[in-house]
Amino acid sequence: MKTIAVIGGGITGVTTAYALARRGLSVTLFEKNRYAAMETSFANGGQLSASNAEVWNHPSTLLKGLKWMLRNDAPLLVNPKPSWHKISWFAEFISHLPHYERNTIETARLAVAAREHLFAWAEEEGIDFDLKKQGILHIYRDKAGFDHAGRVSELLARGGLPRRAVTPSEMKAIEPTLAGQYHGGYYTESDSTGDIHKFTNGLARAAERRGVRTLFGQDVQGVKVHGGGIRVTASDASGLAQHDFDGVVVCAGTASRQIAASLGDRINIYPVKGYSITVNLRDETSQRSAPQVSLLDDATKFVTSR
Ligand SMILES: Cc1cc2nc3c(=O)[nH]c(=O)nc-3n(C[C@H](O)[C@H](O)[C@H](O)COP(=O)(O)OP(=O)(O)OC[C@H]3O[C@@H](n4cnc5c(N)ncnc54)[C@H](O)[C@@H]3O)c2cc1C
Repeated sequence: MKTIAVIGGGITGVTTAYALARRGLSVTLFEKNRYAAMETSFANGGQLSASNAEVWNHPSTLLKGLKWMLRNDAPLLVNPKPSWHKISWFAEFISHLPHYERNTIETARLAVAAREHLFAWAEEEGIDFDLKKQGILHIYRDKAGFDHAGRVSELLARGGLPRRAVTPSEMKAIEPTLAGQYHGGYYTESDSTGDIHKFTNGLARAAERRGVRTLFGQDVQGVKVHGGGIRVTASDASGLAQHDFDGVVVCAGTASRQIAASLGDRINIYPVKGYSITVNLRDETSQRSAPQVSLLDDATKFVTSR
């Protein structure tokens, strides 16, 4: 049986380890934290959003990025201080602008296929991750944003994801707590929300039941090609240890670039910092006032999930 190391125990590493185990491979998962999903997969926006499949490699993103650099309340800020990694990442980002349409269609297709797996695995393994199938509503304050979303909808439809335009009054009917003025929205009924930390931990336990060896608290220090296979060097409280495998999958989030480079491979991930807060709705007024349907405001890059 082929032996595979998976480096990283976020949602990418755990789903990879689980999928490989289902295919009959012998899998070992390395995660430097004591549990799965303690970094980016700890608490995100909670959206299972195939409707967010539009890739960012569009000329308007570059324009917005430049304008945002002059605003204090910009939804995304780029530190202008140059570094080789930043320059190479932006160069690659720009080189993909011509593939915007094709990549958006393919990302939508991938997202639709991925969520089918996710739902099926959660059901088969009995994972409770607060899944809520109430759709996602994208909201637009101006005509330009709404018109762009209309063009995105055509690409999503070509990727197999239907969504419908809604008027401000329809938006209010879908989510009665919405306040303020909007030009319109797009509602994707098939989208949903859930708790990424609960899902990843539930799937990690399911992977263990299927024979995956999970090594938590193991910080991978180095990976190299060794005798036709791969040698992983990892450390824990008791010191360094070496492990040999037939292959490796690098799922280490923002650390992936450095780990892959030691194998002569290139994963050009550049880290972005984002914030998520979880609010406990204690009193009745708060519970009544918070949205039930998940929202995405494209202009401010703001999402809510209940
Ligand atoms: C604020 C915010 C909101 C978001 N909202 C959404 C959303 O609503 N919907 C959505 O789909 N996505 C959302 N995302 C994105 C999504 O959360 C991430 O894409 C996803 O969690 C990334 O998972 P990952 O497994 O690739 O990375 P991570 O979860 O970061 O996992 C990488 C793992 O590798 C481990 N690791 C790294 N180096 C080593 C090493 N040397 N040895 C051992 N282990 C190592 C780390 O400890 C970590 O556990 C959001 C992101 C942010 C920041």
